[in-house]
Amino acid sequence: MSASDNIRATLRGAGLRVTLTRVELLRALLAAHEPVALEDAARLVGEAGGDPATVYRNLQALTEAGVLRSVRGVGRREMFEPATRGADGHAHISCTRCGRVECVDNAPHPKPPAVKGWQVSDVTVTAWGLCPDCAAA
Ligand SMILES: [Zn+2]
Ligand SMILES: [Zn+2]
Repeated sequence: MSASDNIRATLRGAGLRVTLTRVELLRALLAAHEPVALEDAARLVGEAGGDPATVYRNLQALTEAGVLRSVRGVGRREMFEPATRGADGHAHISCTRCGRVECVDNAPHPKPPAVKGWQVSDVTVTAWGLCPDCAAA
């Protein structure tokens, strides 16, 4: 099965209609090795994506269907990555100066807290600091 077939199967498996924009978005995010913000996603898919509003709607649809995971960067800027990426011990490190976010695998992961009345589905870990570029500047 080719990469495109895999992507189509993933979309169909999530109950999504397969469109060129969605295939290209997922392909771009799988190829990126860090979470991608809307403007970068729009740039990565280029012509296939349509305008940023269309790209954003598709990112939302993919996130709601569980294909993508939304990651918050500096200023709660929303970024996206494939939900299949390292479900266990997957954390993020975010630069407080330039906003760059990278994935960290095998990070220690806290247990979900037990809070009365809540059904906790996920715990996300983000470490904050200066990236190598900003630390050197
Ligand atoms: Zn930085
Ligand atoms: Zn990540």
